[in-house]
Amino acid sequence: MKAVRLVEPGRPLELRDVPIPSPGPHDVLVRVRAAGICHSDAHYRAGKSRVHPLPLTLGHEVAGLVELAGAEVKNFRPGDRVCVHYLATCGDCAFCRGNNEQFCPHGEMIGKYRDGGYAEFILMPARSVFSLPDAIPFPQGAIMMCSSATSLHALSKARLCTGETVAVFGVGGLGMSAIQLAKALGAGAVFAVDINPRKLELAERFGAVPLNANDIEPVAVIQDLTQGRGVDVALELIGLPLTMQQAVRSLAIKGRAALVGITDKTFPVAPYQEIINKEAEIIGVSDHLAREIPLLTDLVASRKLDLSNVVTRSVPLTAPAINDTLDQLEKFGNDVRVVVEP
Ligand SMILES: [Zn+2]
Ligand SMILES: [Zn+2]
Repeated sequence: MKAVRLVEPGRPLELRDVPIPSPGPHDVLVRVRAAGICHSDAHYRAGKSRVHPLPLTLGHEVAGLVELAGAEVKNFRPGDRVCVHYLATCGDCAFCRGNNEQFCPHGEMIGKYRDGGYAEFILMPARSVFSLPDAIPFPQGAIMMCSSATSLHALSKARLCTGETVAVFGVGGLGMSAIQLAKALGAGAVFAVDINPRKLELAERFGAVPLNANDIEPVAVIQDLTQGRGVDVALELIGLPLTMQQAVRSLAIKGRAALVGITDKTFPVAPYQEIINKEAEIIGVSDHLAREIPLLTDLVASRKLDLSNVVTRSVPLTAPAINDTLDQLEKFGNDVRVVVEP
């Protein structure tokens, strides 16, 4: 089969002919119908994050059709529409059994530590494969498996309850999903903090109160707009010490700040005023969970999470088409959502 692979970091991906993998008893072979091209893939190609072993097929946002199911797989048959959770896990360790499979010591992310979706077929353990409702086109089924799934996990880690207020710091791909998901889960006011007017406009269309941090001080304005209470849930999706601090400082009594954006820098916290006195919490969010995917597919199928205008175009399974898209992602950031349709 054809596969577009990372052969050497810092060099363009290459089209290779590789054998079609054959499923073990608990595996599913999926014929890829759409694979999202993610900003992380540009980092992998550039050698900013480790990809191993090389050469490796990239692509961790995958939807398609079951081609073959292993002898022990009871819940899938050839022809079933499916989407793929991006972690292949052992299913047997304490983390897997406790539904925290993102910490599975044997876990392998597709497109990073095992072959991913820029190929005609992908092999996955059946427990990482989920039904994709007919109402969700393959391109949306692919892209929801990365940023939307992580936004949903962040809201779940922050224990968002009906009627609670939310502040979302950073309204790129993750943030747009987070706003819609917060609304779908019953949030009251949702504040969107960013410095990009175009993104804030879109955030407003999804029902958020836009706050441009270039023009105002977001913590003070959030306090004002909540009658001095602050918000119950703050999501930090950028990975900047400044916005992490703002997320914490915008919390109400009993508020929860969920940190999703990644940085290796530190940020200051005033333990008494900002955490202890309020019984506020700072919560780390890493990836997402397989068991959250059925809820995600329900929300996308019912259009409560509308991804219809997120996928901007599709490209064929060729190395130049994928490399060009990665070049654009490097130049223009996260705006471009392109899927490979083999
Ligand atoms: Zn991704
Ligand atoms: Zn495990």
